[in-house]
Amino acid sequence: MGLVIYNSLSNKLEEFKPINGNKVNMYVCGPTVYNYIHIGNARPVIFYDMMKRYLEFLGYDVTYASNITDVDDKIINKAIETGKTEKEIATFYENAYFDAVKKVGSNKPDLIPHATDYINEMTSFIDELVKNGNAYNVDGDVFFRVNSVKDYGVLSNQVSEDLESGARISVNDKKENPLDFSLWKKTDVGIKWNSPFGEGRPGWHTECVVMNHRLFGNEIDIHGGGMDLKFPHHENEIAQSEALYHNHLAKYWIHVGRLDLQGEKMSKSLGNVIYVKDLASKVEGMILRSLILFSPYRSIISYSDDLFNQYKKEYEKWQRTYKQVLYDLQYKGIKSDALSDKDIEAFKEYMNQDFNVQNVLTLISGLIKEINTLLRSKDYDNLVSKFNTFKKIMDVLGIDLFVNPMSDEELEIYTNWNKARENKDFENADKYRNMLVDRKIL
Ligand SMILES: [Zn+2]
Repeated sequence: MGLVIYNSLSNKLEEFKPINGNKVNMYVCGPTVYNYIHIGNARPVIFYDMMKRYLEFLGYDVTYASNITDVDDKIINKAIETGKTEKEIATFYENAYFDAVKKVGSNKPDLIPHATDYINEMTSFIDELVKNGNAYNVDGDVFFRVNSVKDYGVLSNQVSEDLESGARISVNDKKENPLDFSLWKKTDVGIKWNSPFGEGRPGWHTECVVMNHRLFGNEIDIHGGGMDLKFPHHENEIAQSEALYHNHLAKYWIHVGRLDLQGEKMSKSLGNVIYVKDLASKVEGMILRSLILFSPYRSIISYSDDLFNQYKKEYEKWQRTYKQVLYDLQYKGIKSDALSDKDIEAFKEYMNQDFNVQNVLTLISGLIKEINTLLRSKDYDNLVSKFNTFKKIMDVLGIDLFVNPMSDEELEIYTNWNKARENKDFENADKYRNMLVDRKIL
């Protein structure tokens, strides 16, 4: 059995089989760039980056797209508030976003579509929906007619009646049905574009569908995002795709849970927000990454300082062992790519169970113990393969321990230190030891 993942569309664990052989197309809803991202926003940024790495480790050829929503009321309001243009606001926070992406150890997606680059495609898409009877224009506002598709509610597993009574419905006399959602918004303030329906701006739900279609042409393999996007955003993406393309936009819908701060939802209005930019260093970025990756991805994380410190200790333990072994192997001149097949298989087995990261964490702890024992007993053959395996797993998870091989000068001191110890020349051993401590080698 290969990779098994939980598909939110079927609410079942399913074996992962891409639509086109070895090729995996994945799309994850990106940020609306009007503010800095907090550590909860970083959860999907970290999880899907790891997912791409893991799929590549399994041998898939992955194309990962994630968009930038650079037009939205929040951006328009911020522009008005600060006397800047929407473009200036969006560019500033997009740059800040990618700084944060880097800080938590994620790579930039392969494709980064911007909503404002697809305005024409969006207006013609909306126009087609209108012509097809799936949308209607009321004085320049265009709404999607949810009753025009047969399985609205398929993702959130609700029937229309429940949705209607359950959803927080904004009073809008223009809509035929309270669940109908905005595709084109007539606007008086802020940036606007011309369209067959009049001046305005496109809605968020349309953006992702149109960009997906333009970038990938057809149904994609994986659509991801935070759990909170399931309804209405993803449900509405599916409805539009159903209407014109007769598919669910993606074969697998995967959602990651929220990250709360000590049991409370992080929000600016509550004042309990930790921004990624405020993490003190790239090491703290990696500790956050570890905390997020080793928490079951579909569950809520209740973040606290205690939890962070727990992962800090864990991270420092990995770092210590990594450093010792890397330097010792360098000193001994041992080079090898050997892996421990048994441990690699165990890693795959756990990851393939819908990313059973808790078992992976146990596997890593076991490897660290074994590595330390092998180092003491100088069993270099086994040490090297276990060490390489540990390194490989960290690499797939994207956890960087920030340890580099020693420079020539450092290696010389390290060698002198070892020689002095062998010769029981304690005075020199001490001297070299201090030099190595100063250089953070020991
Ligand atoms: Zn989206």
